[in-house]
Amino acid sequence: MNLNRLAYFFLFFTSTSLCAENIVNVYTSRHYTTDKKIYKLFTKKTGIKVREISAKDQILLERLKNESPNSPADVLILADAARLWRASQRDYFQPYTNKLLNQKIPSALRSSEKWVGLTVRARIIVYDKKKFKKNDLQSYLDIGKPIFKGEFCSRSITHPYMLSLLSSFIINLGESEATKLAKKLVHNQARKPQGGDTDQIRAVGRGECGVAFTNSYYLIRLMKSKNPRDKDVLKNVGFVFPNQNSYGTHINVTGAGVVKTAPNVKNANLFLNFLTDSKIQAIFAEGNNEWPVVTTKKTNNEILENLGDFKRDGLDIEKIGATQFVAQKIADKVGWQ
Ligand code: FE
Repeated sequence: MNLNRLAYFFLFFTSTSLCAENIVNVYTSRHYTTDKKIYKLFTKKTGIKVREISAKDQILLERLKNESPNSPADVLILADAARLWRASQRDYFQPYTNKLLNQKIPSALRSSEKWVGLTVRARIIVYDKKKFKKNDLQSYLDIGKPIFKGEFCSRSITHPYMLSLLSSFIINLGESEATKLAKKLVHNQARKPQGGDTDQIRAVGRGECGVAFTNSYYLIRLMKSKNPRDKDVLKNVGFVFPNQNSYGTHINVTGAGVVKTAPNVKNANLFLNFLTDSKIQAIFAEGNNEWPVVTTKKTNNEILENLGDFKRDGLDIEKIGATQFVAQKIADKVGWQ
């Protein structure tokens, strides 16, 4: 080998190894401009570049499966306990190294060292103010009452948001009571389950449904919208944080973990720590109108702050994820599509 070629190989190997050391590959189901801002701040602080692969949760999980064990993924960010639990079951995570995270993040909002919750959302009730009063729907159980016959709209029960909610009923009420409630909810349906959470809010606004469930951030997004069509939809829509007099409103998380086959384990752990920093948490959560998992100063999100404090169901999120198969079994039994 002549000297030139030797120099070339030397340069090639040092540059590729430098590259490998200075990158963190993030597979995320989020897609917010605020996240890009956070990546820049991380790079500024650590010199590590963030390479983001953004896609829907299901696609990310498929991609990881196909790429395994040679996936470039270092960090995996997914929404909802049901999906995080599935990823954990498939053994996609390795324990995070910073044990301080166990003190920083409430134990109900993380798994046993595989993933940590990053943002919190609530599954709330929206209702048609022309037809019902707030008092009619103080709890999830109320939606099963005869006054809501032909009024309840829902997205498909197979969706993680619905499976997690039903799982929370199972853990809180027991399988038999949860089955009874599911049966009543199916009985009260206004139509065949369809669409996403925003579609349910719009249907309530148009008077097609009297009542529905939605994740809090979809409602807040519409509340913040300047689009006259959205403003119009919300005119008749009221909302309730259910179960304030009992076990609290069902909450869920977006969470992240270090991928088991991560090529850049150290960077992945640094990134995870960074996302749980209180200053960064406020920006990260706000990107999707959610609440941070760690205590931060107030966010700049006025509508979010104005919603105020509410009693949260304290269930272990990992347990909710693990109960999804029982939830699906109950849904099948009562004919909830
Ligand atoms: Fe969502």
